[in-house]
Amino acid sequence: MRGRLVAGNWKMHGSLAANQALLAALKARLQAIEGVGYAVCAPFPYLNQVAAALEGSPIAWGAQNVSEHDVGAYTGEVSGAMLREFGCRYVIVGHSERRGLYGESDQQVAAKFMAAQRAGLTPILCVGETLEQRERGDTDAVVERQLDAVLNAAGVAAMANAAIAYEPVWAIGTGKTATPSQAQGVHEFVRALVAKRDKELAAAVSILYGGSVKPGNAKELFAMADVDGGLIGGASLVADDFVAICEAAAN
Ligand code: PEP
Repeated sequence: MRGRLVAGNWKMHGSLAANQALLAALKARLQAIEGVGYAVCAPFPYLNQVAAALEGSPIAWGAQNVSEHDVGAYTGEVSGAMLREFGCRYVIVGHSERRGLYGESDQQVAAKFMAAQRAGLTPILCVGETLEQRERGDTDAVVERQLDAVLNAAGVAAMANAAIAYEPVWAIGTGKTATPSQAQGVHEFVRALVAKRDKELAAAVSILYGGSVKPGNAKELFAMADVDGGLIGGASLVADDFVAICEAAAN
């Protein structure tokens, strides 16, 4: 059976004091459960703090971005090897804020995905459509284009060490959530795209839903057959909410 995963995306939030309180609460309250993974993806400067605070807990940690290059004259960039050296496990690639605000192309996202894997990190690949694209009926085409860019560049075998997150852009930070059946529809489509290339890997890859997941809607989303957990933004900054969402994934 494929694993479940709940990953928090703190985005550009946090402070030493606030992180310490949040991490201590998560460490105290989240128990190791077979088949369920938890992770927090923090801003770069706090990764060392996160690693130290979570030592000995079942909660892994990750970054929110990585360079597509391994080393060199790339001012301001952080390589996968640097992250790995500190014990980083996950990295989010292709988040819609990176695509939309920083102009990351499908090809660049694919290059970042591969750089993460070269360094031994597990990429969480985000795909998803804008409201305009959904209203035009282009959801499947957009998701297929984003996913195919990675599958074509990295090969389907790369899915053995990756998670995919379906994040409709219109649901991120807006309080609007995809209904469980909307999420299931796209998740099923994503799994079928992977299955066209490799059925076993498609059955095994975890597909997370992200977009205004809260304690009040997590259970019904995670109950869908192809929803294997969540990528959680705002609610991952509130210990009670993140714990409740993790518990919903575990039940
Ligand atoms: C996200 O940042 O990936 C996200 C899903 O945010 P939110 O849960 O706040 O919508």
